[in-house]
Amino acid sequence: MSERSLVLVKPDGVRRGLVGDVIARIERKGLKIVALELRTLDREVAETHYEEHRERPFFGSLVEFITGGPLVAMVVEGPRAVEAFRALAGATDPVASAPGTIRGDHALEIQENIVHGSDSAASAEREIKLFFPDLF
Ligand code: ADP
Ligand code: MG
Repeated sequence: MSERSLVLVKPDGVRRGLVGDVIARIERKGLKIVALELRTLDREVAETHYEEHRERPFFGSLVEFITGGPLVAMVVEGPRAVEAFRALAGATDPVASAPGTIRGDHALEIQENIVHGSDSAASAEREIKLFFPDLF
């Protein structure tokens, strides 16, 4: 059974030239990229994407960060794609992420942690509809 997940290379990852590294890891793992676009998010899309965090103290700063430059949005597909990409990404806090993961290898700050990956099949469906409505 194939599954889809939304992956973002966040603006820090694009700025630092890590798009190729993230794509290489996705492809090496065997996940298939079925949509991909460079874009700068407007505030409304960013706030909708992160709506579960609206009441958190870091929400304003997170929206500023994620809208602060171009990001790469993609949809990846494969068996247990949600869990598979979250394993490649590592823990939210890059210092707690194992070396060998994207965050564990490339980041130190909890906000600027290079990538986003959907956290469940339901989140993936919601997020893919937001970023790539034409895929449905
Ligand atoms: P994940 O991206 O691993 O699913 P969360 O959904 O908890 O993590 O948080 C969404 C994003 O918000 C994180 O990836 C990170 O960029 C940012 N973030 C999370 N916690 C904090 C925090 N305490 N301070 C600043 N930014 C945070
Ligand atoms: Mg999350």
